Amino acid sequence: MELDPNQDPFSREAVRHLVSRYGSPLFVIDAERVRRQYRRLAAALPGVDLHYALKPLPHASLITTLNAEGACFDLASNGEVELVRRLKIAPARCIHTHPIKRDSDIRTALSFGIGLFVIDNPDELRKFTQFRTRCSLLIRVSFRSPGAQVDLSRKFGCDPESVADLFKLAAELRIKVDGLSFHTGSQNADPAMMVKAIDVCRELLQDAVEAGHSPNILDIGGGFPVDYLKPAMPIEEFCAPLKEALGKLPVGMRTISEPGRFIAAPAAIAVSSVMGRALRDGRWWYYLDDGVYGSYSGQMYDHSVFPVEALSAGAETFPSVLAGPTCDSIDVIRETVALPKLEIGDVVLGHMMGAYTWASASEFNFFPRPTVLALDQGRLLEDLG
Ligand SMILES: *Cc1c(COP(=O)(O)O)cnc(C)c1O
Repeated sequence: MELDPNQDPFSREAVRHLVSRYGSPLFVIDAERVRRQYRRLAAALPGVDLHYALKPLPHASLITTLNAEGACFDLASNGEVELVRRLKIAPARCIHTHPIKRDSDIRTALSFGIGLFVIDNPDELRKFTQFRTRCSLLIRVSFRSPGAQVDLSRKFGCDPESVADLFKLAAELRIKVDGLSFHTGSQNADPAMMVKAIDVCRELLQDAVEAGHSPNILDIGGGFPVDYLKPAMPIEEFCAPLKEALGKLPVGMRTISEPGRFIAAPAAIAVSSVMGRALRDGRWWYYLDDGVYGSYSGQMYDHSVFPVEALSAGAETFPSVLAGPTCDSIDVIRETVALPKLEIGDVVLGHMMGAYTWASASEFNFFPRPTVLALDQGRLLEDLG
């Protein structure tokens, strides 16, 4: 046992223990929080199959924890397929949702045993002609989401108006289409776009029937929001109108969602420490051993701002600057943040750091990525990855 089984691994006491044993920087994952998020979303969306999208945090601890909960998985690349294969996840619980695939992506996923793929254009559809006896497809429809933190409908998905032609072409090529999917963007502020997408897809599925398909799946993607500096809409409130819209689908229609951020974000913290400090223009600059090229990469790629705090709270705080370790001037985590006066070696915590952080971290300037510690009720999970 690494910690007391009842101890929160994100508590100050636990973090102090982990830093004294494993040093800094650390990226601490809590399997119990993964479980909690999964159960909360599953309760908010009854009857919807939850496929965890690996992309935000492709770590073995999440996959084995979620697998034990009965979750399914959403994969997008050869590396993700290899990871779930190594962890002995049943291929029947996996779907492949990258709309644009290399030949090797298709073959690797098929050889693992995945049978459901996503396409959004005629060229991608034709790639499946030679594999038509081994799989079926979903067509990804695009709905622009200017309200989302990350609008994913610019890069992928076909216009609702083009869906009927794809149904027809698939029928001509004798490729089975099982339904539709969409992803209205990540960190949606509200569910309005998803509700609209469900309603439009319900109509479009009629065209599939007319083209001779027997659609039985609607995949509503990910995008469920979490609290960063600003609180997000509670997930129960977010999901209530989705549940209602899904209730209007024909009976027998299977519904899938692909949560990533919602499950991963609250499940990890970044633990880093002050390497050095300097007083510049009347403000203290603290240089940490992890930064924007490391775990805080989400600030660049994902446009997230993470709540940060000093491990040892001081009575008095001062406007301070938190910077990363590299020699690049862009490597600044926060320009103005209220912190107590920190000493060299003091620890700083980043919260809500599970999603799109460690996954996109680099080793720029040869500052290594943090040591990952995955804990489950006091037990340190072996790094199966
Ligand atoms: C990234 C991604 C997800 C996960 O999105 P979140 O906003 O993190 O929930 C789900 N599905 C697909 C196809 C994705 O690309």
